[in-house]
Amino acid sequence: MAEKNNLQFKTEIQELLHLMIHSVYSNKDIFVRELVANAADAVDKARFASIQNPAITREWEIRIEADEANNVLTISDNGIGMNEEELITNIGTIAKSGTKAFVESLKNKDEKSADTPELIGQFGVGFYSAFMAADKVEILTKKAGESQAWKWVSDGKEAFSIEEAEKEDQGSRIILHLKEDAKEYLDYWKISSIIKKYSDYIAYPVKMTHTIKKDDKDVVEDSTLNSMKAIWLRSESEVTEEEYKAFYGHISGNFDEPLKRISYSAEGISEFKALLFLPSRAPFDFNMAERRTNKLHLYVKRVFITDNCPGLLPDYLRFAAGVVDSSDLPLNISREMLQDDPQIHRISSNLTKRILSELAKLMKDDREKYETFYKEFGRQLKEGLHTDFSNRDKIKDLLLFETMNNADGKLVSLKEYRDSMPALQQELYYLTGDSRNTLEKSPHLEIMRKQGYDVLFMTDPIDEFVLPSVGEIDGKKLKCVNKGDVKFDESIQKELEEKTKKAGEEKKELVDFIKTSLGSKVKEVRFSSRLTESACCLVSDEYDPSAYMQRVLRAMDKNAPDVQRILELNADHPLVTALQALYTKDAKNPKLAEFAEMLFDQALLAEGSPISDPMLFTRRVASLMTLGAEKETGAE
Ligand code: ADP
Repeated sequence: MAEKNNLQFKTEIQELLHLMIHSVYSNKDIFVRELVANAADAVDKARFASIQNPAITREWEIRIEADEANNVLTISDNGIGMNEEELITNIGTIAKSGTKAFVESLKNKDEKSADTPELIGQFGVGFYSAFMAADKVEILTKKAGESQAWKWVSDGKEAFSIEEAEKEDQGSRIILHLKEDAKEYLDYWKISSIIKKYSDYIAYPVKMTHTIKKDDKDVVEDSTLNSMKAIWLRSESEVTEEEYKAFYGHISGNFDEPLKRISYSAEGISEFKALLFLPSRAPFDFNMAERRTNKLHLYVKRVFITDNCPGLLPDYLRFAAGVVDSSDLPLNISREMLQDDPQIHRISSNLTKRILSELAKLMKDDREKYETFYKEFGRQLKEGLHTDFSNRDKIKDLLLFETMNNADGKLVSLKEYRDSMPALQQELYYLTGDSRNTLEKSPHLEIMRKQGYDVLFMTDPIDEFVLPSVGEIDGKKLKCVNKGDVKFDESIQKELEEKTKKAGEEKKELVDFIKTSLGSKVKEVRFSSRLTESACCLVSDEYDPSAYMQRVLRAMDKNAPDVQRILELNADHPLVTALQALYTKDAKNPKLAEFAEMLFDQALLAEGSPISDPMLFTRRVASLMTLGAEKETGAE
């Protein structure tokens, strides 16, 4: 007999286990759900492997046994099993991303805080939940196709042991030595009701024996606790919301209430059925690298094939969870074949269209619900605008933004914005920046307010990348108000142009002076038609990145190049008039160069950009304030 191998749990698991053991979470039932789900996954894997290796085919089943005399509950399967190495890596470390997120969220939290127990239910912490009901757990397991079995034992504290063991057939037995207060789980009816509630759709029989009295005699009966009906093949009226929710939880690993359910049945060239769910909340780990694939399980004629088939849906719709059951694919389809199978492409394009049309419908019929969705996954839709050319028009109708004239938090679509434009407005205006707050103060909005135009606020860094893909909305282009020339209706345009042209001619020398003294900081200095209150602002050339985009790029790469911008001046502003007067009086006055720099810094501050020398700027402001205060008091 080989010796026992004692190993420590990783610290994070110790923390998790400590929590399980001391859990006051009232819904302990979930440990049954989790262990049965693991057993079903193990059988899924074995069944798939048996296509290549028929020797491991079995009469697939999951069995629950209650040993009242010894207070032991056992959940066993004849699935894939684990070898020594897999026992150590799968059970000794946190593999599941949901569990990882759970542990992360605990780190930021006082352990005793009130909602910790609820979090357990939300995440479903997999195998470890066994320790909510048991003070000692054994796993007896033999990997399908191998001859050596292994025994894993732990009291869920610091360590576990692994040793060689005897086991007749492949698969795993999870043996739970129940805590005193968990004896109810030995009861057939208790287990039976948990299975009905959470695991009814599982495609393999979950069996349990129990003793009944028949004609005064004890008769042992072997019952199957679940209906095993593939939930996606049943008619919607037959399935309860609770069953759908349990299924959604099982497939997605999410524990929110699904926002929308989509049943899809395709006939014709491609025959498949799909049951999809759109989540109401983005899971904690949604943007982590390991999560960057959809949550769809692929079946072929009711046989589980894989839960990792990226081709089933484009990446931007990866929030969708559910099953696809195809009648056309071969059962022995390999991973490589899945990658560019034309059937998979067809399914993907059908599902994509359906999801987008369901979202459009939701937006129309239940705006509030749609906005809940949009706040969680709007960013993915924008990603789609950039990557899914064939559905661009549908996706752009699904986008929502805040605008200058609407209250904080109110979202409008591009179409809604377009429809509310005054007749003379030539373009759809938008402004990018990191928050509504900074945008609202932007000098670029002055002329818009004056003309009574609204401006879309784009506060997501991804916006500027994807907006070029929007193209036109009912014949009108999107236009960033702080780039290039804003084109107004002729009647206004003419007047504005004349005014700036006149100012440009009259104050040409001042403008040239400012440009010379700012040097390479600016591309050009000119008079502006967009300012009514501020003295100046900065504008990007039409095809250059905006100031906000430059800040985003700089955050990603410190060495992102500076793109020169245009300093625009307000011809009507008293400051400009005063500078002109000073220039006329004494073109060599050293103050002029200092003021030119301050103008530039002001423009930067107004748009929320950092200035290069805040200390110098403050010193200059302080000296001007001193002059101002002295003037107020009449001091010499
Ligand atoms: P999850 O099932 O979400 O991955 P768990 O903590 O429940 O997380 O399980 C960790 C891993 O242990 C599983 O991914 C699987 O590889 C393995 N495992 C658990 N139960 C079984 C079982 N009954 N048979 C085979 N492997 C199992």
